[in-house]
Amino acid sequence: MIRAVVFDVGECLVDETREYGTWADWLGVPRHTFHAMFGAVIAQGRDYRETFQEFRPGFDLYEEREKRAASGQPETFGEEDLYPDVRPALAELRAGGLWLGIAGNQTVRAGRILRSLFSNDVDLIGTSDDWGASKPDPEFFKRVAASVPFDVNEILYVGDRCDNDIQPAREAGMETALVHRGPWASILWSTPEARELPTFRVDSLLELPGLIREFNGSAR
Ligand SMILES: [Mg+2]
Repeated sequence: MIRAVVFDVGECLVDETREYGTWADWLGVPRHTFHAMFGAVIAQGRDYRETFQEFRPGFDLYEEREKRAASGQPETFGEEDLYPDVRPALAELRAGGLWLGIAGNQTVRAGRILRSLFSNDVDLIGTSDDWGASKPDPEFFKRVAASVPFDVNEILYVGDRCDNDIQPAREAGMETALVHRGPWASILWSTPEARELPTFRVDSLLELPGLIREFNGSAR
């Protein structure tokens, strides 16, 4: 049975349009061009961070984050960047008695924003920077499993990427849901991995409560 649902952050809960738009601005590259290159890098199976290298070889993301913060233009997101199904889905899942968590590859700063947005709505908020382990490292999913008060096979991990979310969560023993949005899921939705690996494939987080009820019903 699924008793806990843990969500990825970027392109699962948060629409990163603003985030990458401001990165394009920071690089001095037209947004349309930056986003096109971002998609090309993903379609080529490369790490998305190579997008920055394409425009500025030697670009150091950590250093540039600090520079942005120092110049008063830090990476940020807020309530207005959440996908519109997030609040109603969390409320419905919680009303259905599920234990809820948020765990993603995020900075300490993003962790603070997540806590300000979701402390009253979920039972766990954990980030790679808090844990010193980033997806797809199995250690990240061990930390998730250790934070949830149920068995690992009773956790549903929800994310938008097969390589970072679905595959490693499955290898950790979790059930998985792939959400169809953002660059990765949109570009790779029809690949064999995206079709075959996840327990559920959804266009909206609002499909989860019904799918979980059905799954748990057939598990009884
Ligand atoms: Mg994501």
